[in-house]
Amino acid sequence: MSHLWEVDADVAAAVLGEIRRQSETLELIASENFVSEAVLEAVGSVMTNKYAEGYPGRRYYGGCQYVDVGESLAIERAKKLFGAEHVNAQPHSGTQANMAVYFTVMEPGDTMLGMNLSHGGHLSHGHPINFSGKYFNVVQYGVREDDETVDFDALRKLAHEHKPKLVMVGASAYPRVLDFTRFREICDEVEAVLVADIAHIAGLVATGLHPTPIGIAEYVTTTTHKTLRGPRAGMIMCNEELAKDLDRVVFPGIQGGPLMHVIAAKAVCLAEALKPEFKEYQKQIVANAATLAARLAENGLRIVSGGTDTHLMLVDLRPFGLTGKVAEKRLEEAGITVNKNTIPFDPQKPFVTSGVRIGTPALTTRGMKEPEMEAIGDMIARVLKNIEDDAVVAEVRAEVGELCERFPLYAQMKARYAAEAEKRGMKV
Ligand SMILES: *Cc1c(COP(=O)(O)O)cnc(C)c1O
Repeated sequence: MSHLWEVDADVAAAVLGEIRRQSETLELIASENFVSEAVLEAVGSVMTNKYAEGYPGRRYYGGCQYVDVGESLAIERAKKLFGAEHVNAQPHSGTQANMAVYFTVMEPGDTMLGMNLSHGGHLSHGHPINFSGKYFNVVQYGVREDDETVDFDALRKLAHEHKPKLVMVGASAYPRVLDFTRFREICDEVEAVLVADIAHIAGLVATGLHPTPIGIAEYVTTTTHKTLRGPRAGMIMCNEELAKDLDRVVFPGIQGGPLMHVIAAKAVCLAEALKPEFKEYQKQIVANAATLAARLAENGLRIVSGGTDTHLMLVDLRPFGLTGKVAEKRLEEAGITVNKNTIPFDPQKPFVTSGVRIGTPALTTRGMKEPEMEAIGDMIARVLKNIEDDAVVAEVRAEVGELCERFPLYAQMKARYAAEAEKRGMKV
């Protein structure tokens, strides 16, 4: 018996639809992943019922002994995984983690440097429509036009001209290694605080596949749901000396009661990340991205910066005369999920774009390796080369279905939900 189906078959049916969508299509959105059943169980646990304002051992509510276990484990495991002195495991999201750091370091109106959104940065790094761009005086840096990597000369000039209090390094759509030491040098020249946002690359950083900013940046923020493969949430790391002020900004500064079920799930994903298999998983993500990028290039697409060092790539669609908007829609019809994304110096508007962003963390979780990446690269190219041809889209959709069946996802859950739907005569 399912409580959800008994109480609310409409929501249950939507969940079944989502299980089907996730398991029967190819998820190539670089910021997404599939959590383990263990993480799902923790997120769906009774820890959701508990108010626990404060921190483990010093709460404003009684009855916190068990949620304290979850949060303490999350903190200890994150310290061990990343080699951090202090961890705040309470941010509800990556954006709130960044907000907490900004409010710890800056006053409204202070100046910060952040990476341009269309060069790979994140909304919360100072975009004018985000709180960060409204509260602070944001100066944006970007990549060089020739090799599409961070323009350190321009960054240094901007830093000396604007004397920022804070420099943010980190990105949502940058395929190359970020050299944190060069950011540190520039920050030291102008006495700025360096914040590294490793939301996308946390799994790579945790396993040594991308250099770590710990010990280089004063603050390191992350999400836990991208390459780290945990629940949807955020986290902040810093050294002991900065801990007290930071913790006070997270609570009571910008958040109320922490999401204790999500924090317990963070502990679970961090335990998974401490296992040797996690490093093998991260290595495979990177190998898969390299293979997919190479295959797309062989098919005539241009890969921004000529390739990737990480889990993601940006594909310039102009060689095919396409926009990101059109490509995203057509690929979705073929069962391949990507997102349109601006490329550096993009002539198109952000809602249209000249590119798509493609990442391999989710499909690597399903067990796919290099041969599948080659096949997927060819499928993507076939759809894009025959953008008007419905027959090609239908053919690729069928191949996607076969591939998905070979790499099952949430199979038991899907069967259970499907049986409930059938019992009620609901078609999902
Ligand atoms: C995803 C991301 C975030 C924000 O995470 P949310 O949990 O969606 O708020 C912040 N910074 C970077 C670089 C990201 O990629």
